[in-house]
Amino acid sequence: MPYQQKNTVSSLRIPDFQDKATKEKFNEWMIKSSTLQIRLVSALTGLLYMIAALINSLIISGEILSLMVTIHLYVMPPFLFLISLMTFKKDLYRLFIFLLIIAPIAATIGNLFITSKLEDPALYMTELYLIIFWIFTVSGLRLWEATISAMTTVIVIFIVTYFFFSLSLESFVMHSFWMLASFSFGFLGAYLLDRSYKEVFSTHEQLIHLAMTDKLTGLYNRAKLDELLQNELDRAEQFHHTFGLVIMDLDHFKEINDTYGHQAGDTVLREVSQLVTEGLRPKDKVVRWGGEEFLLICAETDQKEVLERVKKLCLKIEQHRFSIPAGITASFGLTQSSKGDTIDSVIKRADDALYLAKNSGRNRIEFL
Ligand code: GH3
Ligand code: MG
Ligand code: MG
Repeated sequence: MPYQQKNTVSSLRIPDFQDKATKEKFNEWMIKSSTLQIRLVSALTGLLYMIAALINSLIISGEILSLMVTIHLYVMPPFLFLISLMTFKKDLYRLFIFLLIIAPIAATIGNLFITSKLEDPALYMTELYLIIFWIFTVSGLRLWEATISAMTTVIVIFIVTYFFFSLSLESFVMHSFWMLASFSFGFLGAYLLDRSYKEVFSTHEQLIHLAMTDKLTGLYNRAKLDELLQNELDRAEQFHHTFGLVIMDLDHFKEINDTYGHQAGDTVLREVSQLVTEGLRPKDKVVRWGGEEFLLICAETDQKEVLERVKKLCLKIEQHRFSIPAGITASFGLTQSSKGDTIDSVIKRADDALYLAKNSGRNRIEFL
């Protein structure tokens, strides 16, 4: 399996996706699930800033009011609504994530501007702690993005409050403590969230893997076939090439079961699937189509090449020494994809070819 699932429920370690493809798949999955969150959170935050501006205009007067209204109505809401709108365009993902990282820093600078002009800044400084918490647990940023944003925010707050605010020692110490508390709670929340996203993704991948895999042979099962064939049909049309489709059915397999027992039959099926899989290119796919029927998709291959490969396979099975003291042979129905083919049409041709092979004496190959 391409992912690691060693974690137990009590483990704090974040699941680790070892290979690049799984990492990319996880990132895609995260982008999908965080985009809606970012859209809604940005819009709600913009709205709350507008409400703050309204409250400011009702209870505050004097010079400071115009600064508050500028920041709470004309700077933050447009900034946040822009991010929210950008989430509708997938191509803009990197840009809106970047803006989401700097939005809280901009809000912090705005807040510090306002509080620096107030006689009693304590009431408005609460927003700073909320911003740190918002970055980690609400924003929709990934752990490392949130950490960059929150670290920068905290550094800006420290520098400005230390050098430009005349806070008493007690206020500064308590202010620093509240920042530490919001940062640590926020970071822990984001860490645990990241970990559970990865666990949910791992479980989701495992379930998909189980649903698409044949338990006896480990090959793809029929549930995966439509997806594989449609992919191949699409690729063939896009890149103007053809693929070969092979249906293989073991000959007189019922007799094997009747003579040696069902378990021996199962072992033979595993051995056959091993033979079919050997020497396949990564782009070729094998599916256990039915009980003793296998389906092979030979990607980017023409008729001649499929025929050659299947001849080798037919001979390989015939000559193989299986775990039972009997020879096994198989019949093969082949076809090559052509323009306008559908899943049903291409399978039907291969199946008709197999029928012909069976009726013409078995242990042979037919092409339609
Ligand atoms: P033919 O040459 O016409 O294909 O003959 P056949 O006996 O192979 O075909 P038939 O369709 O009559 O029988 C298929 C047999 O495959 C019957 C069934 O018991 C066996 N089979 C199907 N699935 C499994 C399985 O998972 N394990 C085992 N051991 N046998 C299976
Ligand atoms: Mg059969
Ligand atoms: Mg058979």
